[in-house]
Amino acid sequence: MAYEAAQNRYSDMQYRTCGRSGLKLPALSLGLWHNFGDTTPLATQREILRTAFDLGITHFDLANNYGPPYGSAETNFGRLIKEDFRPYRDELVISTKAGWDMWPGPYGQGGGSRKYVLASLDQSLQRMGLDYVDIFYSHRFDAETPLEETAAALASAVQQGKALYVGISSYSAGKTRDMAQLLNDYKVPLLIHQPAYNMLNRWVEGELLDTLGELGTGCIAFTPLAQGLLTSKYLQGVPFDARVNKPGGDSLAQSHLSGENLEHVRKLDAIAQRRGQSLAQMALAWVLRDARVTSALIGASRAEQVRENVGALQQLAFSDDELAEIDRYATE
Ligand code: NDP
Repeated sequence: MAYEAAQNRYSDMQYRTCGRSGLKLPALSLGLWHNFGDTTPLATQREILRTAFDLGITHFDLANNYGPPYGSAETNFGRLIKEDFRPYRDELVISTKAGWDMWPGPYGQGGGSRKYVLASLDQSLQRMGLDYVDIFYSHRFDAETPLEETAAALASAVQQGKALYVGISSYSAGKTRDMAQLLNDYKVPLLIHQPAYNMLNRWVEGELLDTLGELGTGCIAFTPLAQGLLTSKYLQGVPFDARVNKPGGDSLAQSHLSGENLEHVRKLDAIAQRRGQSLAQMALAWVLRDARVTSALIGASRAEQVRENVGALQQLAFSDDELAEIDRYATE
C-alpha cells in the first residue's frame, strides 16, 4: 500500500542546529550500516525507515560500502526512496560517504584521492537514484593523500551540486582543524564531524569536541549504543538474531560480551531503571547531554527498537550523582 507519512511526525522529535549552520538535525538519526543489505528482507527495511520518519527522524545516514554486499544498502534505500519517500525528499537529510575499500583496483581501495572520492559519489547517487545528497563525507583520514586533494574533491562535490554540505568522519582534532581551514579557501564550511561516541568510547571528549565547538562544526555520534552492548539485549544471553550472530557482525567482538563487561552493563541497566527509562534510552540521553553533539546516530534491526530509542527524549537530564555512578561502571 502506498505510504503516507504520519501527520503528527514532527510532534515529539527535537531538532538541534548543526554547528554554526542553518541546518537542523533530529536528536536521533538513523544509520544504514547494518540491516539494510541484501541479507535483510526489504519489508523489514521498509518498516524501520517508515517508523523512523513517522517519529520525526529526518536524517538517514549511508556510505558507499554499506551492505552486504557493498553498495546494496544504497541500492535498497534507493528503491525505498522511489517507492515510499520520493514525495518527502525535501523533508529528508540523506548522507553518504567515501573512504573505505569499495571496488577492485587502485582507484577503489578507499582513501581520499580525487579520483576515488568523486567517482564514489557518482556511484552512490546512481544507486540511490538521487540528484544530490545533503551531506557527503570523507569517511576517514588518508595519510597517503594530501589533505588539500581531499578538501578540493569535497568542495567540487558541493560546487557541482552533488552535495549540499560536506563532513568528515573519525578525523583527529588536528586534522579536523586542517580540513576546515582548507575548505574555507573554497568558501565551503565543514558542516559536521562523525565520530564514534558512547559511554564506553569517549575519545571525542576534550580536544575534538572543543575543536568542533570553536570551528562551529556539528557532531553526529555513531555507535551510541556500542552496537547494542549498551542495551539490555545481552543480559539474558545472546539472542539468536543479535548482531554478533549475523554476517558482518564481527564488528561487535564476542570479547565485548565478557562476564565482567556484562556485569557493568547490568549495573548501568539498574541506573536506567531508576531513571524510569531503558538502558538504550539512557545511553542515548548520555550522548546527547553535551550541547555540541547535534545528533546520536543509531542503528536498528527492527522498528520497535527505533520506537524505544526515540523514547530517550522523554528524559534527557542527568543529576551529577547519576553521571558519577555511570562513570563507575562505564569507562573506556
Ligand atoms: P548503535 O550503537 O546504535 O547499535 C545499533 C544496534 O544496537 C542495532 O542494530 C541493534 O542490534 C541494537 N539496538 C538498537 N536499539 C536497540 C534497543 N532499543 N534494544 C536492543 N537493542 C538495540 O549503532 P550502529 O553500530 O548500528 O551504528 C549506527 C550508525 O552509525 C551506522 O548505521 C552508520 O550510519 C554509522 N556508523 C558510522 C561509522 C563511521 O565510520 N563513520 C562506523 C560505524 C557506524 P541487533 O542487530 O543486535 O538487534
